[in-house]
Amino acid sequence: MSFTYYLVRSEHKTILVDTGVGTRSGRKSHLDKTLLDMQVAPEDIDLVVLTHLHFDHVGWNTVDAGDGTPRVFFPRAQFLVQQTEWDYWMRPKFLTHPWFKYLTQCVLPLQETGQLQFVEPDAALTADLTLRPLAGHTPGQVGIEIVSAGQKASIIADVSHHPMQIDHPEWSLDNPYWSADDPEASRLVNVDVAQAIATRTRIFNEAADDGRLLMTCHWNYPSMGRIRRRKGKLFFEG
Ligand SMILES: [Zn+2]
Repeated sequence: MSFTYYLVRSEHKTILVDTGVGTRSGRKSHLDKTLLDMQVAPEDIDLVVLTHLHFDHVGWNTVDAGDGTPRVFFPRAQFLVQQTEWDYWMRPKFLTHPWFKYLTQCVLPLQETGQLQFVEPDAALTADLTLRPLAGHTPGQVGIEIVSAGQKASIIADVSHHPMQIDHPEWSLDNPYWSADDPEASRLVNVDVAQAIATRTRIFNEAADDGRLLMTCHWNYPSMGRIRRRKGKLFFEG
């Protein structure tokens, strides 16, 4: 499975969509180097859209300041988050659970520095970019609709983890973190499986209808593609 995040430029704004797994717990993640290669400095980022608050989407929000405390990695950025998403994850049961330590390390500091901004799930970011609610995987997941130069694309976050789901939208990732002690805390993969399937089905059919490019976070590189419909069946076209 890939971990893909997007840098979008629109109306002179530099917008990062999600920040990856980060480097804590020995994880190898190179968002800092990737941005440098593109000649983008952390202070160049104006907006960070957090599609949802799973660990693999918020990791580079902060880095270790050197003394174990977190420092926000993008000093000028406003981080756009859904209130629904925030309220769901910021409950004591998650904040005190060892699996969710990343919330304290990577998400809560945004509030302390005043860089957290709640926005509506259908907010317009620029003339070309609009948020879109994609609940299911998590309660407040959003994607981004891009309409530019007569072309359409959708960043669909974790609506789908593999193109196989185009043929089988009812297939969802197993949850390796499931715990009988606290089933809710352990639903890391899809918080609401039925809603996730409904959202996936809707997004795939819409993409087949209008030929838009789907940009995902976890399909294998390059993580994007189009969907075609032939004889009533949907097919992936890379
Ligand atoms: Zn993810």
